[in-house]
Amino acid sequence: MDINKKRKISILGSTGSIGTQALEVIEKLGDRFEIIALTGGSNTELLKQQAQKFKPKYVCSNDKDFKADGVITLYGQDGLEQICSDKENDIILVAVSGKIGLKPTLTAIEHGIDIALANKETLVMAGDIVMQKAKENGVNIIPVDSEHCAIHQCIKNINDVDKLIITASGGPFLRKTTDDMKKATVEQALCHPRWNMGKKITVDSATLMNKGLEVIEAHHLFNMDYDDIEVVVHPQSIVHSAVEYKDGSVVAQIGLPSMHIPIQYAICYPDRYEGIKSKSFSFSEIARLDFEKPDYEKFPSLKLAINAGKKGNGATVVMNAANEESVFAFLNGKIRLYEIYEYTQKIMNYDIPKVSNIDDIFSLDNEIRIKTRELIK
Ligand code: NDP
Ligand code: MG
Repeated sequence: MDINKKRKISILGSTGSIGTQALEVIEKLGDRFEIIALTGGSNTELLKQQAQKFKPKYVCSNDKDFKADGVITLYGQDGLEQICSDKENDIILVAVSGKIGLKPTLTAIEHGIDIALANKETLVMAGDIVMQKAKENGVNIIPVDSEHCAIHQCIKNINDVDKLIITASGGPFLRKTTDDMKKATVEQALCHPRWNMGKKITVDSATLMNKGLEVIEAHHLFNMDYDDIEVVVHPQSIVHSAVEYKDGSVVAQIGLPSMHIPIQYAICYPDRYEGIKSKSFSFSEIARLDFEKPDYEKFPSLKLAINAGKKGNGATVVMNAANEESVFAFLNGKIRLYEIYEYTQKIMNYDIPKVSNIDDIFSLDNEIRIKTRELIK
């Protein structure tokens, strides 16, 4: 980053968990950033406050009547795409949740704008297309998720890497029995021991589906075979992930579990600043680090996701849509936590059509959501 030039950034999903933390990072970094756009979904009150404070060029929400003083107000998916076509942006942080993130990300890539990527669906639904387009347009995709951000920091030359090692905290049910999981309430599933995140990703962390989605993302981001990506449970969440080089060296990225750090890394890349750092790291304070193999019996969603990744093409679209609809049904009290896996697996048994473009992906996603809702009814 040119020290005298402000980096121009848009934050899609500024009212969410990642988005609000990104604004905290930007505030700490003083005047290194200029905000082009802030966007929210339904939390227009917070969006309005953010607009007053950060004075972006645009705001965008899902409320047609939303207005904020002195800012261009945009609406919905078209608004997000308009923001992502504005070449004034140096980088766009994609921190919306769900499939809404995919098309704006592609639009930004087509306009040569770098991406700091938090949104999972972008790579899970369309990893091949997104990475190919990024390559064609010379766009950097810098991962925000702590595991991929760790791997990004550990890799010098991907051709020298034998294996990626992705760590998982294990979520709230790590030390609970399968029976406890079967009886789990929404409140228990949302009580993550390490990370404070949006509801959908928190439920996915409880079933370890989130780790499966991360394996799929890692496969696309680092062009790594699924057989060369290993998941290890590490309850303290200090080692954020690691890579094993072909000469036997293992390089891990470690640090306190705070999303501020990977967010700052991604939006400032390749530069580093003091910014949000509040405390110096101390090995002696941490004292011990534990690692264990994941329990694939207790957490079958992990294997389900990895197998969908291996099948490739439409399989991850189907798995993602069925899982998300089942997570919503769980959050709405319609099904139990364990049934998220059962419904997703049932849907995975259908014939999965080939997808060759974004329209195919969205129509398959739509079809599967309808099927899943019908099955759950
Ligand atoms: P949140 O649910 O906290 O925030 C989601 C954001 O997206 C909010 O700003 C929300 O707006 C907006 N949004 C949701 N739906 C729509 C829509 N249909 N149209 C427009 N905007 C919408 O999620 P997180 O911040 O936790 O996660 C965001 C993404 O990052 C997810 O894909 C998640 O998997 C990923 N991620 C999150 C991590 C975390 O630590 N939180 C870690 C790694 C990845 P509003 O609230 O105003 O409705
Ligand atoms: Mg993660």
